[in-house]
Amino acid sequence: MTTKTALITGITGQDGSLLAHYLISQGYKIIAPTRKNPDKSNLKKLAVENSEQITFLTYKKWSDFEEIISHYKPSEIYHLAAMSHVGQSHENPALVFDVNCIWTLALLKFTQEHSPHSKFFFASSCEIYRNDFDRAVTEGDEKRPNNPYGISKLSAHQMVDYYRDVKGLFACNGILFNHESELRHPSFVSKKICVNVARLVKNGGEPLTLGNIEAKKDWGYAPDYVKIFHTILQQPQSQNYNISTNKLHSVKDMVNAAFSALNYKISWQGTGINTQGINSDGLVVVSINEKYFRPLDNRFLCGDNTKIQTVGQNINQVPFHQWVKSMTLYEYNSLI
Ligand code: GDP
Repeated sequence: MTTKTALITGITGQDGSLLAHYLISQGYKIIAPTRKNPDKSNLKKLAVENSEQITFLTYKKWSDFEEIISHYKPSEIYHLAAMSHVGQSHENPALVFDVNCIWTLALLKFTQEHSPHSKFFFASSCEIYRNDFDRAVTEGDEKRPNNPYGISKLSAHQMVDYYRDVKGLFACNGILFNHESELRHPSFVSKKICVNVARLVKNGGEPLTLGNIEAKKDWGYAPDYVKIFHTILQQPQSQNYNISTNKLHSVKDMVNAAFSALNYKISWQGTGINTQGINSDGLVVVSINEKYFRPLDNRFLCGDNTKIQTVGQNINQVPFHQWVKSMTLYEYNSLI
């Protein structure tokens, strides 16, 4: 057990809640600045919303973090809060840049000035990479984002590098590939698939309608990933790491895994936008709608995870089929 204190931004999100849950189990005290009236439903699902180890604080503007950091001088700072939806980032690039980059810069500056011994973790993203590699990308590979989300994350990532390499802060980028869990927001395809497959198997109804089901992602399980955030800050040197599985699975693979988790047979007919998933009664349970396609999708980006394996943490503790099953059963059991 430790006597350390960790500041987490974004504690109410998927990763923030899972990280808080993990750090509490390790004995940490947690400082959790949030906006007024935060939605604590994720923390509640993990039964830590009333933990005495968490100190919730309300902030109004980013400059409030100057006082928070100088007062608490946390041992570790995990900056996870962000506008996190790639598809939606095309609609408001200025806001996305402000939240994802300028806020990160403010936190780095306050840390440097008031708590230079704090270790800083930034949730960077695989969206920073060039998207046309035909092999798994490594941390040193070329960065060339093609959406406002990726651009904002890359600028923040480079600020983290600057504060480490030039200003001497212990600051690390965890370059996060897609990572899912029962706490995922419904706008992400994993949650959408598991919620709708559970509903179709239990109650039937309208088909699950998706966009490009041939899109492939390097998908991991978020509860495994947050432990790695912590491990990265325990290393002797501050560095950047891909947090990825080095395996690709398609959206279609995820649909198949979700149905098979509930022992429900489907077959596929047609091609392209005419693809349909059919159940054993001949009913359409999956269909395609072009409105869910993305203009520029990082369809086949895969992360080489050789470097993160050297820190001794098993990145793929729960394999793809197992966590998709766990997410689907969670949705199925929550239906009345
Ligand atoms: P993202 O990669 O962070 O944007 O995570 P998402 O879970 O939103 O999307 C993962 C992949 O699923 C992307 O390649 C999408 O194009 C693809 N996809 C296919 N159908 C859908 C859908 O109906 N909704 C979403 N959100 N993504 C879809």
